Amino acid sequence: MNTESREALDALRKQYERLYSIADLTPTVCHLFGVPEPKDCGGTVIPEIADQADKLMGGEGKTERAVLFCADAMGEHQRRQFPGDFEKIEKTAGFRIRSVSVMPSVTPVCYGSIFSGAAPCVHGIQKYEKPVLQVETLFDVFPKAGKRVAVAACNDCSIDRIFRNRQVDYYSFRGSLPGEPASGNDVWQRADRKAYELTLELIAKDEYDLIVCYMTDYDHQMHLHGPFSPEAAAQAHLAAERFEGLREAMDRYWANYNRMLVFVPDHGGHSTDETHGGHGSDLPEDMLVSHYYRISEKRG
Ligand SMILES: [Zn+2]
Repeated sequence: MNTESREALDALRKQYERLYSIADLTPTVCHLFGVPEPKDCGGTVIPEIADQADKLMGGEGKTERAVLFCADAMGEHQRRQFPGDFEKIEKTAGFRIRSVSVMPSVTPVCYGSIFSGAAPCVHGIQKYEKPVLQVETLFDVFPKAGKRVAVAACNDCSIDRIFRNRQVDYYSFRGSLPGEPASGNDVWQRADRKAYELTLELIAKDEYDLIVCYMTDYDHQMHLHGPFSPEAAAQAHLAAERFEGLREAMDRYWANYNRMLVFVPDHGGHSTDETHGGHGSDLPEDMLVSHYYRISEKRG
């Protein structure tokens, strides 16, 4: 456990009156799998998730498969605007963990903390930049424990870049080529769809113990058109549908494994003017997110 990380994360918990931090994801996933947490972790194991796994699986460290669905920018401010989609996400998962993000609330800083358990001052990404993270992460400790890990994301996004040089399979998808639009206004919808479809395929083939599936396009549309624009709303809706689709695939193909599925946004976002959105500020709209956990025991 890293004290500097813990103190920095605790300060934000206190400031936003939240029990949990987005950095609690990695120690919680490690605990459920029985894998040692990364060295610089300052997050804590979420007791209600650990208890549920313990109860369903009859002991600690017995989780065998996981999918972490990283829907960028789907925070609490989004939840208020898209209640139907978030109800679906919560119903699919079962557990809603009200959490606080880290500062500045931009993607590489936040996913850096989510997958290392470390505060930004410790993991080293403290602004919008995408260097390869040098601290230990989930993508180090899982392979070290003999776990097979896949990351599916669009080309050059934060998740595609900052966790490189690990013993992990990276699946990196391009956006649409000119003249091959997925829909009129967005090049990244193709990459998101490919990442999702690949994840379904990998679940069916049972080639990995842990799969990270990233979805960028709610965030992208939020910046372009505003957080509650029809374009952004369509992507929020799609994220909820895909989360449910992942549950179905896991229940079908991984019924014989103890498993977890988590909805893992990095931050929220707010309107910056009438037709644009953004994030990165120390504001509740950007900083408050929930992570949603589904814990399932293998067929008896
Ligand atoms: Zn983001």
